[in-house]
Amino acid sequence: MMNEKVLLILVDGMRPDSLETVNHPFVRHLLETGAYTGQARSVMPSVTLPCHMSLFHSVAPDRHGVLTNTYTPQVRPINGLCEQLRLAKKTCGFFYNWGELKDLAKPDSLAVSFFASGHIHTYQKANQMVTDEAINYISGNQPDFAFLYLGYTDEAGHGYGWMTEPYLQAVSESWDCIERVVRAIPDDYTILVTADHGGHERSHGTDMPEDMTIPLFIKGRTVPAKLELDHVSILDIAPTIARLIGVEAAEEWEGKALV
Ligand SMILES: [Zn+2]
Repeated sequence: MMNEKVLLILVDGMRPDSLETVNHPFVRHLLETGAYTGQARSVMPSVTLPCHMSLFHSVAPDRHGVLTNTYTPQVRPINGLCEQLRLAKKTCGFFYNWGELKDLAKPDSLAVSFFASGHIHTYQKANQMVTDEAINYISGNQPDFAFLYLGYTDEAGHGYGWMTEPYLQAVSESWDCIERVVRAIPDDYTILVTADHGGHERSHGTDMPEDMTIPLFIKGRTVPAKLELDHVSILDIAPTIARLIGVEAAEEWEGKALV
């Protein structure tokens, strides 16, 4: 049974092919030292809140019932990752800048929840704020699981178009945040970096590959370097994190552990 601590970083709307264009040094570092796929699949609709609900609950949107960016309580509730962690007396922290994510975990499942509004501060600034707070909290408290959500790229995609220069600049700045937090926290954390969906033109939500294909990096002391991950779904992320931390998956979860 593994007993790792995990940091999950999600860059909203980050397409895998943007990483080749941006060529950030910390992307290269993770590719050298961890596992990767640029072909993981999200779920339909490829929209932020449905995709996040699927990531945390390991079922498709037709099962959890959240089909838009407006949260609706689950009719047949499934425990999410944070509820499973809470049952096992593990600690979770959330750091995010898009308010609709507030229902992703039950409030009592989280030891800490830090929200800085991207609408109010700008997403560019709010990305820095949530990164700073994640660094402070994780360094001081070492929660079993932390979730860092960076919303700036999606906003740049909607504003200027996916794969445009301002979008790629937002991807690059997000990787500056990723590098900063990973270098600052204790090095026994296992790091996952992924996205909820991609995008095309100024939108997403369809089943086009540009919208549905997401990257996944996993780096940690139990993960072989340069491992190529295959046939990965966003539903696999919660079971993988549960396995790493050493807690049970919920019965209803449909994804598989990747490590
Ligand atoms: Zn969006």
